[in-house]
Amino acid sequence: MTNVAGHRGLLLVVSSPSGAGKTTLCNRLRAAFPRLGFSVSYTTRRPRKNEQDGVHYHFVDKATFAEMAAADEFAEYACVHGNNYGTSAKLVSDALAEGRDLLFDIDFQGGRHLKRKFQNDIILVFILPPSLVELERRLRSRATDPEEVIARRLRVAREELRHYDEYDYVIVNDDLDRAFDALRAVYVSALHRRERQRHAADAVLSGQQVLRIGSLGDGYRVAPAATFRVASKDGDQE
Ligand code: ADP
Ligand code: 5GP
Repeated sequence: MTNVAGHRGLLLVVSSPSGAGKTTLCNRLRAAFPRLGFSVSYTTRRPRKNEQDGVHYHFVDKATFAEMAAADEFAEYACVHGNNYGTSAKLVSDALAEGRDLLFDIDFQGGRHLKRKFQNDIILVFILPPSLVELERRLRSRATDPEEVIARRLRVAREELRHYDEYDYVIVNDDLDRAFDALRAVYVSALHRRERQRHAADAVLSGQQVLRIGSLGDGYRVAPAATFRVASKDGDQE
């Protein structure tokens, strides 16, 4: 069976200041598209009480992180809010080569690096909070970080927000359902870009049949089509 929909995987980067809702939106997107993989980052940050190693992050110490960086094991890495975060280079290259889509919850520095490296296979989405006041309310209501961590994240939020300009799409997360609909629409549109559908077009043009495999984002398979006879302009059969 040939998957013709996305011969190369699509990288979907979602960034925002802490508390704007990107984790919530990313989780919804993953639930809606089981085929969409998630890039589990490496971090030197301590796990929050609801976080599992290998699921939310790979939690590593600073020495391990430095060794991985020196060995070129990261597609990108950055210091965010005083901790190190990095994206596995192998995870990304494997996904691209195997035609699997990957979702990234990373900051603007990571987004910028990945955009430079993978220009043709990447879509970047920035999530805006409806206001700085609401951002603060959400950070506090999440209640996962100590006060000094919240204060630090709020201090840099305005600076992070300015980087919306480097992104392809910007979504205001005021109402969660509406913001999710927008994120879903961006992903679905990206899957249907002409350059990602060439194999489908080629298959149809070469007389084959293109059949959807599962839900959106799962791709297509190609099957032989019944013989097709085309009427030419003057009514003759070709
Ligand atoms: P981030 O990953 O960007 O730091 P989270 O997804 O953890 O943000 O969201 C921060 C808090 O805001 C969470 O408690 C989440 O439930 C809440 N939240 C997310 N989106 C909305 C929204 N549209 N309206 C109200 N609260 C929201
Ligand atoms: P948190 O500590 O709240 O999980 O994440 C803090 C910030 O680090 C968020 O903006 C998140 O998107 C970002 N982040 C998480 N993983 C990575 C990564 O691998 N690379 C980069 N550059 N940023 C990351």
